[in-house]
Amino acid sequence: MLSTMQDVPLLISRILTHGSTIHGTSQVTTWTGEDEPHRRSFAEIGARAAQLAHALREDLGVTGDERVATLAWNNAEHVEAYFAIPSMGAVLHTLNLRLPPEQLAWIVNHAADRVIIANGSLLPLLAPLLPHLKPVEHVVVTGPGDRSLLADAAVSVHEYEDLIASKPTSYDWPELDERQAAAMCYTSGTTGDPKGVVYSHRSIYLHSMQVNMAQSMGLTDEDTSLVVVPQFHVNAWGLPHATFMTGVNLLMPDRFLQPAPLAAMIEGERPTHAAAVPTIWQGLLAELTANPRDVSSLGQVTIGGSACPPALMEAFDKLGMRVCHAWGMTETSPLGTIARPPAGVAGTEEEFAYRLTQGRFPAGVEARLTGPGGERLPWDGESAGELEVRGAWIAGAYYNGPDAEPLRPADKFSEDGWLKTGDVGTISADGFLTLTDRAKDVIKSGGEWISSVELENALMSHPDVAEAAVVAVPDEKWGERPLATVVLKEGSTATFETLRAFLADEGHIAKWQLPERWTVIEAVPKTSVGKFDKKVLRRQYAQGELD
Ligand code: ADP
Repeated sequence: MLSTMQDVPLLISRILTHGSTIHGTSQVTTWTGEDEPHRRSFAEIGARAAQLAHALREDLGVTGDERVATLAWNNAEHVEAYFAIPSMGAVLHTLNLRLPPEQLAWIVNHAADRVIIANGSLLPLLAPLLPHLKPVEHVVVTGPGDRSLLADAAVSVHEYEDLIASKPTSYDWPELDERQAAAMCYTSGTTGDPKGVVYSHRSIYLHSMQVNMAQSMGLTDEDTSLVVVPQFHVNAWGLPHATFMTGVNLLMPDRFLQPAPLAAMIEGERPTHAAAVPTIWQGLLAELTANPRDVSSLGQVTIGGSACPPALMEAFDKLGMRVCHAWGMTETSPLGTIARPPAGVAGTEEEFAYRLTQGRFPAGVEARLTGPGGERLPWDGESAGELEVRGAWIAGAYYNGPDAEPLRPADKFSEDGWLKTGDVGTISADGFLTLTDRAKDVIKSGGEWISSVELENALMSHPDVAEAAVVAVPDEKWGERPLATVVLKEGSTATFETLRAFLADEGHIAKWQLPERWTVIEAVPKTSVGKFDKKVLRRQYAQGELD
C-alpha cells in the first residue's frame, strides 16, 4: 500500500526559498579586513541567487546538469553560488584552492567544469592554470583582485556584479528529481588520488536537517556561526545549507584565516558557534594566549576533520568555549558522528571522556565494525576494527565521468554497498565511536597495532610540545616502529628522554609502544584542508632516519 502523503521533492531551492523568506532578515557577514565587514541579508542572498541563475542560464548558456565550479573563500557570493547553481538544476563543484595546481587541473578536467566563479584574490592561482583547464569557457570574477591577470586568457571573463545586475530577482526554480546531482566535492587526497563524491538534493536536505537537530549542532536564529571550515571542504560541513533552514546568521572569514584576524572577528562580531579542524584552533589558542581577547560569546565550537587533542579541549573549556567533537568525511556529507554525552553524565568525569570520543551515530547513519578477516565485531568498546557506514547521506560510489559507470573500488565499498571508511576504532555498547587510527596510519609492530593518534595526543599534552605527529617507519625486527616528530614550543628544554618518560608516566603508554626514534621538526606538514600530512612525513623518513 502506498502512503497518502504528498510527494514533494527535497530540493535545495526549497531550502533557499525558506531561508530567504521566513528567515529573510538573518545575515551573512563577510570579513573584509577593513573596519566594517560586509553584511547581506538572507532575503538579498535569495534575490541575488536568482539573478545569478538567470545570468548563468541566459548569458553563459548553462543548461541541464552542467558543472559550475567555484574557486572561492567563504563569503556571501559563495553562498549565493551554493544555492543558485543546484537550484537551477546544474551541479556546484567546489574547488579546493589549496590543492597542488596539477591536482586542481586534473579535477576541473575530470568534472568537466564549463564555468568557474572565482574570487579576485585567487586570480594569481587561477590565471596560470587556465591554459590547462580544457572544458572551461567562462570565468566569473567576484570581489577585489587584479583582473589584468586574465588579460590573455582564452576564455570569456565576466564581472559577477555586472553579470547579475539587471537580472530578475526571482526565478522559477524547476521541480527536479530529488536524487539528481546537486553538488560535488573531490576528497582532499590525504590517502591517494582525489575521488569525486556527488551529493544529491535529497542527501543535502536530509543532512541539513540532521545538522540542525539539538543533539547535533542545534543552532537557532539567535545564533551566529563562524564558518572557518572552507566551503570547498565538504560543503563547509553542511553549514550554509543547514543555516538557511533555521535562520542562523553566518559569519564568513573570506581569506582572513590567520589566528589574529580570527580572534578579532570573534571579539568584534560575537559569534556563538564556530567550526574548524583542530589545527586552526591550536593556532587561535596560541594567539589568545599571547594577545588575550574577549571570546566569551563563543559558547560552542565544533571540531572535526581529525581527532581533537584532549589538551585542546581542556584549554578551550577553560576559556568558556565548549568543544563539540565530530567525525565525518567527504563521503559522509560529512556528519557521521557527533560527541554529545548521553543523559545523566553532565558534570561528571565520564562526561569529558564521552566528549573526547568521536561521538554517537545519528539516526540516518548505520554503522558496523569489521575485523581483519572480514568478521563483524561487537560493540563492546574494546574490539577494534574498520568502521563501515551506510545511510541516505553516505556515498555509495565515486563519480567517473558523465558516461561511465560510477566507481566502486573494493577497498572503499563492501560487496553489500556499505562505505568502508578506512578508519579503525571501537564502538561502545551505547553507540559511541572511538577512533584509534586511520587504517593507513596505524603502526604495525610485531603483529600488534600501535595507535599513532594516541601517541600524538599524549605528546601534545606535554607543556613544551606545540605539535606532534607519529608515523610508522620500517624496522628489521618488528616490521614497523613509531617515529615521533615533534614541534617544540619556543624556549623548551624538553629532551627525547624526558618526552619518552612523560609518555610512559603521564600518558600511560605501554612500554613496548614507546617510540625509540625521535626527531624535532619546525612544523608538521599540513594537507590542503589543514590536517597533519603524514604521507609527507612518511616519505621523508622512509628509511627510518634518526636525528
Ligand atoms: P581526506 O580523506 O582527504 O583527509 P576528508 O576530509 O574526507 O578528506 O577526511 C576524512 C577523514 O578525516 C576520516 O576518514 C578520518 O580519518 C578523519 N577524521 C575526520 N574527523 C575526525 C575526528 N573527529 N577524529 C579523527 N579522525 C577524523
